[in-house]
Amino acid sequence: MNQSSLELANQINITYSNIHHKEEEIVMLKQEITQLKKKLFNTCEHEWERDWDDRSCHSSWLCKHCKLYRNPNYN
Ligand SMILES: [Zn+2]
Repeated sequence: MNQSSLELANQINITYSNIHHKEEEIVMLKQEITQLKKKLFNTCEHEWERDWDDRSCHSSWLCKHCKLYRNPNYN
């Protein structure tokens, strides 16, 4: 392998590594959101209203303040 090909191959490996780290960060941030939603679910004084835009088959009651689903498993 010549020098410039070697450098390109290294750059590709480094970039893959960057993607991997960012994917790990995204997983952690999603977990953080899940925890924050659980706290919000327990602190908001919910007012439930029908979510007419919901095309999915699950519960379509949303809080008009915090926008969480009434069924906590869907948040
Ligand atoms: Zn709420």
